[in-house]
Amino acid sequence: MAQTDYYEVLGVKRQDSEEEIRRAFRKKAMEYHPDRNKEPDAEEKFKEINEAYQVLSDSSKRAQYDRFGHAGVNGGGFDRPFDGFDVFGGFGDIFDSFFGDAGGRRSRAPQRGSDLQQRVTLDFEDAAFGIEREIDVSRVEICHQCSGAGNEPGTPVNTCGTCGGNGQVRRTQRSVFGQFAQVTTCPTCQGKGSTIENPCAGCRGAGMERRNRKTAVNIPAGIQDGMQVRLTGEGNVGSNGGPPGNLYIQVEVRPHRLFERDEYDLLYVLPLNLAEAALGVEKQVPTLEGEDTTLKVPGGTQHGSEFRIRGRGIKHVQNGRKGDLRVYADVQVPKKLSGSQRKLLEELARSFDPNFGQQGTDKQQGSDSAEEPVQEQQHTDEDAWDDDEAGEHAARDKGIFDRIKDVLS
Ligand SMILES: [Zn+2]
Ligand SMILES: [Zn+2]
Repeated sequence: MAQTDYYEVLGVKRQDSEEEIRRAFRKKAMEYHPDRNKEPDAEEKFKEINEAYQVLSDSSKRAQYDRFGHAGVNGGGFDRPFDGFDVFGGFGDIFDSFFGDAGGRRSRAPQRGSDLQQRVTLDFEDAAFGIEREIDVSRVEICHQCSGAGNEPGTPVNTCGTCGGNGQVRRTQRSVFGQFAQVTTCPTCQGKGSTIENPCAGCRGAGMERRNRKTAVNIPAGIQDGMQVRLTGEGNVGSNGGPPGNLYIQVEVRPHRLFERDEYDLLYVLPLNLAEAALGVEKQVPTLEGEDTTLKVPGGTQHGSEFRIRGRGIKHVQNGRKGDLRVYADVQVPKKLSGSQRKLLEELARSFDPNFGQQGTDKQQGSDSAEEPVQEQQHTDEDAWDDDEAGEHAARDKGIFDRIKDVLS
């Protein structure tokens, strides 16, 4: 059997681009598609076009063909290079891509509705303690006028005459490879199996409509910024009786005036002056619940020290266990001093001099403390600033000492 040149089959030139070949194939395939062309040789012609395209659209096969002709691609002049299934596999794909989605893929199978997403912004406390929120959602629902049937209430819904109500039409064709059946969506009812004389005024026959709903959302205590709450079945309605999708509430949390959050711990920065940090103090610390709690700050507290108040944090969103309130000391060096404060600090500065009280002179302030070997000191909270012990504490308190000097200079 003499084979026609593939370029001739598609009506293209040897130097034509892939794109031109594709376009030529598409045009020819539409012309000779057995569904459209009822000429007796259309099917054979279609097969030829398909075969030519399979070779010319593949650059390596095309190169082989250019060099060796049919022998190059068919393994030596084999007449039927493609078996029936390949051709008809390709046939289906071609059908779908060139003639629209009519290849029977659209069916009456139930399909789940799509999910919806909505953002909600919460105050810090509302996220911590939980809250019920009403949100506005625009979603697709079953049409309330026709209950999804699509017809104007009271008007008839008829069984589709074309498909007899099953939504699909089956066509049997004979071909060189034998008989094959093709199932496609019924063109009359688009797969619904029924036809409507008077479409519903509310949905124009679609059976669905978009509605704005107010939905109550229970935001659980402890939710964090970036988490989402799932409302099962609150998304768009499914089609053909499929279940509805979900509604996801994306949570955003506003910052708090006083607290920060680290998972389920609350963080609070407690300002302390030099004397409070050095001597120790009882401080009132705010809590998220409202009433203050007392924190004993020990003497000698360093800047950045952490104090943990157990169970005063935020409820865990899953197990309900509460986190801690973590308090950080912010030891503040005064930027301005009154006359008496300055005097006291100057006196304090002199007291840090290791020679203080030994020679009755205290005029060498700051001159040699840095050269003193650093001594490891066992720290006592209460009387770190007592005059008698000041010399012993000089090395340990050098940080504060230096800071005082900075302020004074
Ligand atoms: Zn309707
Ligand atoms: Zn039908």
